[in-house]
Amino acid sequence: MEAVGDAGLGVCAGHPERAAAAPCSRCGTFACAQCLGWLEGAPYCPPCWHRVSYREEGRGSLVALWTGVASIFCCAALAPVAIHLGRQELRLIAERRAPMGGTQNAQAAVWLGWTGAGLFGVAMLGMACLWATAAMLGQR
Ligand SMILES: [Zn+2]
Ligand SMILES: [Zn+2]
Repeated sequence: MEAVGDAGLGVCAGHPERAAAAPCSRCGTFACAQCLGWLEGAPYCPPCWHRVSYREEGRGSLVALWTGVASIFCCAALAPVAIHLGRQELRLIAERRAPMGGTQNAQAAVWLGWTGAGLFGVAMLGMACLWATAAMLGQR
């Protein structure tokens, strides 16, 4: 047996030329930093990552989703926050640092954020029109 990586970890199962960064916490397969997915600080090899992370909704994705909902029903100022959080979560999912089960939540958060911002814009426009109409009527 040859030890290629640090601490005798061996090589990545998917990349024989690369040293493994950590063993999978579920099945023990070695994987390099590029292949590993992370869930609550535990490393997973690609097959286990797919199995585990589809079931999980990351906390970040739920926070983004609820911020998006709040931006529509409570406070339009949260709309840019929801868009930012949603995009951030999508990036983390792409980097395998947040579970893929949160993809839809994160996408919905971005969508809700834009909708919240749009509704706010329409509401402002409506108010402006009402105000202008009232001002015109008042002049008569
Ligand atoms: Zn595994
Ligand atoms: Zn690899």
